[in-house]
Amino acid sequence: MARAIHLDSIRKEYRTAGSVHVAVDDLSLTIPEGSFTTLVGPSGCGKTTTLRMVAGLETPTSGEIAFGDEDVTDQAPQQRNCAMVFQSIALYPHMTVRQNIGYGLKVQGVPKAERDPKIDEAAETLQITEQLEKMPSELSGGQQQRVALGSAFVQDPDVLLLDEPMSDLDAKLKAELRVEVQRLHQELDATVLYVTHDQTEAMTMSDQVILLNEGRLEQFAPPGELFDYPVSDYVARFIGTPSTNLLPAVVGERDGAYALEGDGFAVSAPADIFADRVGESITVGVRPQYLSSEGGEYELTVVAEVVEQLGTEFVVHGHTPDGTAVDVVSTEFGGVEHGDELRVGFDPADLFVFDAEGQTLCHGDDLTKSPPQSH
Ligand code: ATP
Repeated sequence: MARAIHLDSIRKEYRTAGSVHVAVDDLSLTIPEGSFTTLVGPSGCGKTTTLRMVAGLETPTSGEIAFGDEDVTDQAPQQRNCAMVFQSIALYPHMTVRQNIGYGLKVQGVPKAERDPKIDEAAETLQITEQLEKMPSELSGGQQQRVALGSAFVQDPDVLLLDEPMSDLDAKLKAELRVEVQRLHQELDATVLYVTHDQTEAMTMSDQVILLNEGRLEQFAPPGELFDYPVSDYVARFIGTPSTNLLPAVVGERDGAYALEGDGFAVSAPADIFADRVGESITVGVRPQYLSSEGGEYELTVVAEVVEQLGTEFVVHGHTPDGTAVDVVSTEFGGVEHGDELRVGFDPADLFVFDAEGQTLCHGDDLTKSPPQSH
């Protein structure tokens, strides 16, 4: 039965040659029972270490882990009813697919008559029924990874942990397996925690996304919230492709009206957020998809450097006249060449504003709301 995963002030230190490295730092969150939650972040940010602590393969230096209302911090992995699938496919080469999938159950002493229906069900869900009597060496990488997923499925875990199970597969197989993993989640009564460094996977598959930054929690939210309401420029840049453009600006004031003044733009800004910040350096964030050749309330000049075609869309990599890198995504830039000057528009509703430390000061909603009425 699916159980919520509670992490309470989890910290993991590794000590090597006299120095202490903090891999996970003060991580506290609750992953809802039955959800599909993704742990995402750049290489080395602590994803695998977190997953291994949930599995019981690593002991936290401090903090507690609970499944539902049961404290599992000191429990061995086999006591946790938790299954894990790794990036490197670990199948027994001398056993058939059926034997591989059923091996965990066999070790637990489940009789063959009970094992076989479970194996058949897993194989059907993962569309590998025809491969059951084959040896692993006869299968493609994608099929082998399905077998590994099948071994986890038959154990009917409360918690299913997946550590980059698709990173060795090509793009087409990845797309197929993504669907299988989601089907698996629907069939299982389990809480799934999935590790990836691929933000597209995280955004398309999950109910919730945990974004880590050097071992610390940066944001834990549903994908749409991460995209539209990032808590920092780190989140805004990590989520979405190409990355959010960051335009340097200064908070200005004229006759009691406030504006975010950058290279060629001055965006009206609400007094309640910016009155105390006049003269401060801030950063205006805008996603490449929200810079439009059709115009907008404000405009920006972009000098094109490289133009890439992605199906029906064009990605222009360029810079503003003062040299700030800017990417623009549009269907309209077919004839654009190196050195061309483009005028692109944007609307305040699509902006993010970050302070000098990179923390979000406000989102587009705050820039477009009407100022408080004076009576
Ligand atoms: P990747 O995407 O590259 O797999 P990750 O986000 O999963 O990275 P972890 O493997 O959790 O990151 O590692 C987090 C940090 O802890 C890294 O700096 C790593 O070098 C360090 N680390 C991990 N395991 C150990 C270990 N056994 N001993 C010492 N340091 C370790």
